[in-house]
Amino acid sequence: MAAQQPEIGPLLEGLAGDEAASAAAKLREMAESSPERITGAPVVAALLTALAKPAAAADAAAALRAVAESSPEAALAVLAAPGALSAIISALGGADGAKPPVDGAPAALAAAARAAGREQARRVADAAGAVPALVRLIDREAPGAQDALNALVEAGAAIEVAAALGELLEPATAPAARRARALLLSQPLALPEVAVDALAICAANTAKLRVRVAALEALLAAAAAEMANRPELCAACKKPGSDQDKLRPCAGCAGGPAGRILYHAGCQRGDWARHRTYCRAAAAVAAAAAPAAASAPAAAAAAGGSN
Ligand SMILES: [Zn+2]
Ligand SMILES: [Zn+2]
Repeated sequence: MAAQQPEIGPLLEGLAGDEAASAAAKLREMAESSPERITGAPVVAALLTALAKPAAAADAAAALRAVAESSPEAALAVLAAPGALSAIISALGGADGAKPPVDGAPAALAAAARAAGREQARRVADAAGAVPALVRLIDREAPGAQDALNALVEAGAAIEVAAALGELLEPATAPAARRARALLLSQPLALPEVAVDALAICAANTAKLRVRVAALEALLAAAAAEMANRPELCAACKKPGSDQDKLRPCAGCAGGPAGRILYHAGCQRGDWARHRTYCRAAAAVAAAAAPAAASAPAAAAAAGGSN
């Protein structure tokens, strides 16, 4: 060990004064080596304030990330600190993107939102400007932004994320986008229109691959959540399965995006005229949407995973 650990008190004073840069660098070092020393409301508050000081901001963000990653309680202390959300949103560039984003701020938010739990992540998603700021950073391929948005999606903010993604992009005109839109608005998915528009726009915008992937992930999460809330019923006769007559996913579309297009053994044939269009569109969208990510599971399903 080269140097002995510095005291916290003088570092906090330095952070508030002229020595913010070196104080932030030392706090970052401490947070990354022994995060248990960087606890308590005054330290968290000082680091959050330092996010607004250009010379100290990146180190403060890295320190906050290390603190958030150290324990759920520490992550909660970061996100629940007074003024934390506005300080973090500001460090992401602000709701309107007017400020330069702080390096490491998206990663710090991702770590905090994941570790602090669903309720806190939901609070972040509900804060005005957080989701648009992250979407803007995704568009710039800022490290950690995708991860932060995914954390918010996992906390149930898929619709908000999808809507923000949709607003970022140009209106969609491509046939693939129109198909995707029709598919998602039809039964049995019937997603909210705002989410559908976001997907349609993103599907058309093949250049912005990261944004598209983020939107698709958000919409898959939304679809899965929506479907999970419905009882498992046969898509044809609307009755539940039984031990003698189990429900199985449609083989053509592997049960659709949420795996909930199910049939009794004798029911699918009679429903095919109705389901055919949806089935083919669902299979085509699934294949086109995320070729790299989906190829492995899709191949497995095609090889008999959906029997
Ligand atoms: Zn049936
Ligand atoms: Zn099908």
